[in-house]
Amino acid sequence: MQSKIYLSPPHMSGREEAMIQEAFMTNWIAPVGPHVDMFEKEFADCIGVKDAVAVNSGTAAIHLALLLLDVKRGDRVFCSTLTFVASANPILYQGAEPVFIDSEPDSWNMSPRALKKAFQEAVYEEKLPKAVIVVNLYGQSAKMDEIMSICKQFNVPVIEDAAESLGATFHGKPSGTIGDIGCFSFNGNKIITTSGGGMLISNNPDFIKRTRFLASQARDDAPHYQHSTLGYNYGLSNLLAGVGREQLKVLNDRMEARREIFNYYYNELSTLPGVYFMRELANTQSNRWLTTFYLNDKETNVTVNQLIKQLADENIEARPVWKPLHLQPLFKGAKYYSHGLNTHIAEQLFSGGICLPSGSNLTLSQQDRIISCIRKVFKTSNTSREYLVSVENEL
Ligand SMILES: *Cc1c(COP(=O)(O)O)cnc(C)c1O
Repeated sequence: MQSKIYLSPPHMSGREEAMIQEAFMTNWIAPVGPHVDMFEKEFADCIGVKDAVAVNSGTAAIHLALLLLDVKRGDRVFCSTLTFVASANPILYQGAEPVFIDSEPDSWNMSPRALKKAFQEAVYEEKLPKAVIVVNLYGQSAKMDEIMSICKQFNVPVIEDAAESLGATFHGKPSGTIGDIGCFSFNGNKIITTSGGGMLISNNPDFIKRTRFLASQARDDAPHYQHSTLGYNYGLSNLLAGVGREQLKVLNDRMEARREIFNYYYNELSTLPGVYFMRELANTQSNRWLTTFYLNDKETNVTVNQLIKQLADENIEARPVWKPLHLQPLFKGAKYYSHGLNTHIAEQLFSGGICLPSGSNLTLSQQDRIISCIRKVFKTSNTSREYLVSVENEL
C-alpha cells in the first residue's frame, strides 16, 4: 500500500519550533505574551487592517463577531448555506435563528439574488437580521461588491467568514477585509496553521477593544475580580502565536503552491466528461485552499462517491463538497432561500462536488498518483462523452 495522501495536512516551514523554544525560554506559556501581540500586529499589517485579535479558533472568532453585533436570543442571522457547520454554530450558541442563503453558480458562494429575496421577505415580516455571515468557500471570495451593497441598503452589518480564504483577494482587497468584521482560522487543515487558532479583524477600534475584553473572561476594570458581563476564554496561547508568526511569513508561498496544484489538476482533468472546476471570479484571486470540481451527472455516469471510494482504496483522502447547512439535521426547520424558484445551487454542488488533496506540501508524484486514479475511474466505467453519445444514438 502506498503512503497516505491527506486532503490538506499542516505544512511547517521548519522555523516554528524555534519560536516555541523562545516562548519556553522566556516562560511565556500563557494565553497572553509577546508572540500574541506580535502575531496580531503582523497579521493586521499583512492583510491591511487597523487591528486584529488572536483567538483559539475560527469558531470563537465568529462567535465573538456575533457578540460584537449584539446578536441575542430570538434574533435572526443570515448565513451562507454551503459551508462548514462552524460558520453557523455560533448563531445557535446565541440562541438566535439562522436563515440560510443558497449559492450562485459563478463563485459557489452566497447568491446575491437569494440574499435579496431573504431581505425582501424579512422586511415584509418586519424582522431584519442582526448580521449576515458570508463565507468565502475553498478560498474563493463571494461576490462581495453585490452582497455589501445589498446589506448596506438594509443597514445590516456583514461578518466575512474568511476561514478558508486567507491570502485571497477580491477586486484587489484582501479577503476578510471587505465585511465589517473578518474571521480567520488556523486549524490544522487551513492554508496556514497554529494547530488550532483563529483571528478576528476589524477597522473599528471599539470592536477590537470589546473583542479583547470578551475573549478574556470580561473582567471589569477593578482591583479585584469583578464581572458584570458574560465573558469567554477564547485567547490564543503564546506558544501557538509563535507558530502563527512563522506560518504567516510563508503564506504567499503556500498560496502559490496551492494555486499551482490547482492549475496542474485543471490541465490534467478538466477535459474529462462532465468535470467542471470551481472557477475564479474576474478580478479576484482565490488562494485555492482546496481544489474542487463539480461532476455533471448528465455528461458522465461516474459519480463523486465512486471517485472518493477509488481514491480511498488507493490511500488518498478526498471529500465531498460541504453538505448544505439547510439540509443538516441540526438546523432542521430553519428558513432557507434558494437561488432560483426551482434552482438549488448548493444542493447541486453537494450532490456532484468533490475536494481533492490540495496541501501545499503535496508532491508532483503524489499529484500524478491522484490524477491517474481519477482517470482510471473514468476509463473503467466507460463513460466518455463519445460513449454516452454513441449509446444515445443507438437508442
Ligand atoms: C475551518 C472553518 C471554520 C472554523 O474554524 P476553526 O478554527 O476550526 O474553529 C469556520 N468556517 C469555515 C468556512 C471553516 O472552513
